[in-house]
Amino acid sequence: MRDKKLLGQQILGHLKLYGDLGVRWIQPAAVRIRPSSGRAGKSPVNPMKAATTFKSAPAASMFDPVPGAGESLDAIRADLGDCRRCKLAPHRKNIVFGSGNPRADLMFVGEAPGADEDAQGLPFVGRAGQLLTKILEAIGMRREDVFICNILKCRPPGNRNPETDEIAACESFLFRQIASVKPKVICALGAFGAQTLLRTTEPIGKLRGHWIDYRGAKLMATFHPAYLLRNPNEKRKVWEDMRIVQDYLNSPQDADRSE
Ligand code: URA
Repeated sequence: MRDKKLLGQQILGHLKLYGDLGVRWIQPAAVRIRPSSGRAGKSPVNPMKAATTFKSAPAASMFDPVPGAGESLDAIRADLGDCRRCKLAPHRKNIVFGSGNPRADLMFVGEAPGADEDAQGLPFVGRAGQLLTKILEAIGMRREDVFICNILKCRPPGNRNPETDEIAACESFLFRQIASVKPKVICALGAFGAQTLLRTTEPIGKLRGHWIDYRGAKLMATFHPAYLLRNPNEKRKVWEDMRIVQDYLNSPQDADRSE
């Protein structure tokens, strides 16, 4: 009886999230969620048609799989060690390497750890992280299914923006993580993550919502959950982006990932 009550509360919680994300219709049989048709006549996005190549293509190497494929995440973590490669080291409590499924099809890349993440040594565990967990649940996934990490592995003091020298010192570890996990889809969370990965200053509003080929994967940029906490009206757009991701991951792809 108590379990049923708990289940009921969880279902209500999920429905509220879907409502917040702008979902108006759920297809229960397949546990797949359709976005509201929104503006009249707008058909659901075909993930295959949505695939595009980044228009102002940066250096060609960005689109090549990075060297180091085959390396384990443990080996990369060991190499990172008690990192002192940049000026963030003395300020941090914990290195936040990343967590989740080392063979995930979907990898999230945020900006940098905040206070909660620094304290626990885990990515996206604060309020923004809780929203990310709900967003994942809305597309039928759990945190354990995906891999979550950041551009920077240490918290910038006071949560200030990462600086160029810090990114330069840290980003090779992210690239090695991408090469190790070999995700089908990389979801870049927020302007900073997307712009750093793509080496662009294009605004997140332009980058989001369509596929960009990136290092052997498909990259979807979307708004950062922390931004959504401040701007709940934008949740709808994240929902649309995540639907494209979900449809792509659920669709048969040309070639399955090689082991
Ligand atoms: N914001 C981020 O970009 N990353 C985290 O891990 C937490 C908050």
